[in-house]
Amino acid sequence: MTKLHDNPRTDQSTPGDPDAVAPPEVINVTSRRVKCDGGGALGHPVVFYDMGEENFVECLYCDRRFVLAGGAGGGH
Ligand SMILES: [Zn+2]
Repeated sequence: MTKLHDNPRTDQSTPGDPDAVAPPEVINVTSRRVKCDGGGALGHPVVFYDMGEENFVECLYCDRRFVLAGGAGGGH
């Protein structure tokens, strides 16, 4: 995948060194409803997210970004 250096959504609530924070992991999914548990060692309580009208959602625990794979087979 291509790394995007220009992040349109800047989190201004937590000013800090961007270098000090690991870049969020991007996970491609095929459903707008996703589950995240942190992935083992960095685990957190299992949470479910629904993208709603968006094509992505970020986990509030581990900052992973779940991106809806293009198309999704035409949906309904
Ligand atoms: Zn998570």
